[in-house]
Amino acid sequence: MNRHVQDEVHAHSLRDPESFWSHQADQLHWHKKPSRALKLYKRTLSDGTSYQSYSWFPNGEISTSFNCVDRHVNAGNADAIAIIWDSPVTGATEKITYGQLLEEIEVLAGVLRESDVKKGDVVLIYMPMIPAALYAMLAVSRLGAIHTVVFGGFASASLAQRIDGSKPKAIMTASCGIEGSKGPLSYKTLVEGALKRSDYKPKCVMIWQRSQMPWAPLNEEAGERDWQKLVQSAKRRDIKAEAVPVRSNDGLYIIYTSGTTGQPKGVLREAGGHAVGLNLSIRLLFGIRSSDVMFCASDIGWVGKCTSEDLFSNGSADSEMLLVGHSYILYSPLLAGATTVLFEGKPIGTPDASAFWRIVAEHKVNTLFTAPTALRAIKRDDPKNKFLEDAGRRGGLKQLRALFLAGERSEPSLVRMYQSLLETFCAPNAQVIDNWWSSESGSPITGLELEAQAGKDFHSRGTSKALPTKPGAAGKAMPGFDVRIVNDDGKEVSNGTMGNIVLGIPLAPTGFTTLFNDEERFYKGYMKRFEGKWIDTGDAGVIDEDGFLSIMARTDDIINVAAHRFSTGAIEQAITSHASVTEACCVSIPDDLKGHLPFAFVTLSTTNHPNSAIPDEKLYKEVQALIRDQIGAIAALGGMIQGKGMIPRTRSGKTLRRVLRELVENAVHGDFEKEVQVPATVEDAAVIGVARSKIKEYFEGMGGKHKAIEARAKL
Ligand code: AMP
Repeated sequence: MNRHVQDEVHAHSLRDPESFWSHQADQLHWHKKPSRALKLYKRTLSDGTSYQSYSWFPNGEISTSFNCVDRHVNAGNADAIAIIWDSPVTGATEKITYGQLLEEIEVLAGVLRESDVKKGDVVLIYMPMIPAALYAMLAVSRLGAIHTVVFGGFASASLAQRIDGSKPKAIMTASCGIEGSKGPLSYKTLVEGALKRSDYKPKCVMIWQRSQMPWAPLNEEAGERDWQKLVQSAKRRDIKAEAVPVRSNDGLYIIYTSGTTGQPKGVLREAGGHAVGLNLSIRLLFGIRSSDVMFCASDIGWVGKCTSEDLFSNGSADSEMLLVGHSYILYSPLLAGATTVLFEGKPIGTPDASAFWRIVAEHKVNTLFTAPTALRAIKRDDPKNKFLEDAGRRGGLKQLRALFLAGERSEPSLVRMYQSLLETFCAPNAQVIDNWWSSESGSPITGLELEAQAGKDFHSRGTSKALPTKPGAAGKAMPGFDVRIVNDDGKEVSNGTMGNIVLGIPLAPTGFTTLFNDEERFYKGYMKRFEGKWIDTGDAGVIDEDGFLSIMARTDDIINVAAHRFSTGAIEQAITSHASVTEACCVSIPDDLKGHLPFAFVTLSTTNHPNSAIPDEKLYKEVQALIRDQIGAIAALGGMIQGKGMIPRTRSGKTLRRVLRELVENAVHGDFEKEVQVPATVEDAAVIGVARSKIKEYFEGMGGKHKAIEARAKL
C-alpha cells in the first residue's frame, strides 16, 4: 500500500532523527553550525532517580531574532511586509516591512542594552496586542536574553508571582490594553500593584504610552521610563544592537503554565530546537511560504492551565497567555519570511461576527488559525454564516487554503460545517485542520500537513495533497513526535481503544526538556507516572486504524459510570450531533448507584433561546437517544440544563468543566451559593454567574424529580 508522504516523513523523523533534523537545521542561519542534531544523555535527580534526557543541536549557536528578521533583509526582502496590525478597537491598521522591523528592533535592543539587559537575563513583557509587543520579544531575543510574556491585563497577584519566579531585569509594558468593546484598561495600577507585592524589584519598567489612556505620572524613582522617548533618544544617538547568538540549549523564552494547584511552572523554550522545529512546521503543516499571509487569531501568550491564585483583579477583563501566539503570530511566520496579521480585536463584538472574514479578505490571508471556541461564538452571533458567505460571494476568501483549529476538541459538526463553507468559498482543496498541541510541545503534535513534501524536499511545493480531514480527529503525528496510547500500566493498547496519550523520548525539537529551575517537578509531573518510559500528556484519546488521533478529554475529565470510563468529548459529540444543539459541555454528577452519571449543559441553535433552564421532554429524549445510539445506554445522561452564555471557557477556548462540575456537585447538596475556584484565564467570569443561576433554576424546578436529588434524599 502506498503510504502518504506525511507518514513517510514522520517515519524518517523517528527512524533517523539525526539525518532528518540536521537537514532541517541547514535551512537556518547559524552563528555556529551544530555538528550533530541530537544528543541523548541521562539526568539524575537529587534523590538518585535518573531518566533519559536529550539535547537538540547541542553545540550550535543561533540568534532567533536574526533568523526572523536580518536574514530576510540581508536576502534583499527589506520591502516585504512582515506585520499587518489590524486593530478595530482603535480603528488603526498598520503595515510594517522587514526593513522597518529591523530598524525598530535594532534600536530597541540598544535601549535594553543601555538598561543593562544582557545575554541570559530575563525580561518580562506585559503588553496588549500591538506591534510594540512583537518588537519587544524580538529585541529581547536579539540580545540573547530570555523573554517571558504575561498577558496584559493579568491580575497584580499573578503578575507578582511571575516577577518573583523569573526575576526580570526589566519589565516592558504599555499604558493600557483595550479589550473588545470594554474600552481601555489601565495597566498602571496592575503593574504597580504587582511590584508592590513582589519581593523582587526590576530596575526598569518601560512603558509604551498609548493615546487612549496614557500612564501618568511616570514614577522615575521606581524606574518607570517612557518607551517611545527612550527609542527617540537612542535613534538620535545612533544606538543599535547587533544580534547576539546563544547556544542552542539556552532559553529563548519562558512561558508560565500551571496545574490546578501550586506555583505556576515555567516551560523553558530552547533557542535552537525552537527555531528549527517551527521553521519546519510553518511550511510543512501550515503550508506558509514567504509570499503568504498568516492570520493567527489569538494572543501572544496562551497557556491553558492556571492556578486559582491567578484571579483577576478585574473580574471582567479577560486574560490568558497564548503560546500559539508566540509560535504562530510571531516566530514561525517570520522565520518563513511571510506576513503575519496581528489582530487587536475579538471574533465577535469588534464590531461584529464579520471580523475574521473581513480580515481574511482585506489582508489576503492564506491560513487562518484559531480556537474552535471563536468559531462557536461566531456561529452563535451569525447562525446562518451570512458574514462568511457575503465575503465569500465577493471572492474575498479565494486565497484561504486552510482553517487550523486547536486548543480544545473541535466537535465534528463544527468541522463539517466549516469544511463545507471552505469548499464553497475558499481555495481549491481548502481544509479544516484540527491540530493538537500544548505549551510543553511548543508546536503541533498532530495535524494534517498541507505541504508534507516540505519534510522531504524543502524546496518543492504542491506536489502532494494533504491527508483528508476526518471530523473529530486531530490528524496524525508530526515529525519527531512518537505518539502512543497506553493503559494505566503504561502498556500500549490496540487501535480503537481509548487510553492515556503519551509521547516517546525525545520530543520533537520545539518540545520542552525540563521546567525552568524545577527538574524534580518536571520528573514528577510528566515522567514519573510511566516510570520514565513515556512523557504523560494528561490527555486521553484514541488512535484509529488509519493512525488518526482523536483527543477525547483531559484524563481528569473522564467520567466513570459504573466502572465504565467515558470521555466528555465523546458524549458532547453525540449531543452536538442533534440539529438543535450548538454547544454542549458534559460533566459528572454523583449518583448513588453508578458512582457518577454524565450531566450536560447545552446551548440551542435558535435566535430565540428558551428562557427555561429545563429542556422540553422531546429534546431531552432525542438527545438521550443519540447518546444511546452513538455510545451506549450506560452513558445516558443524569440530567441536562439548557441556556445561553453559561458554559465557562478560558480565553484560549478550553471549557472549564471543573467549574461546572463543582457547581453541580454543590447543587446536589443543595448548596447553590458555595464559592468555586475560577482560574484567571476565564474568558468571561459573568458566565459562571449565569451557570449558577441556571443550575439553581434547574434543580429547584426538577425538585424531587431529579435523580441525584432523589438519591440524596435516600441517604
Ligand atoms: P495548553 O498547554 O494550555 O495550550 O493546553 C494544551 C491542552 O489543550 C492539551 O493538552 C489538550 O488538552 C488541549 N488541546 C489542544 N489542542 C487540542 C485539540 N486540537 N483537540 C483537543 N484538545 C486540544
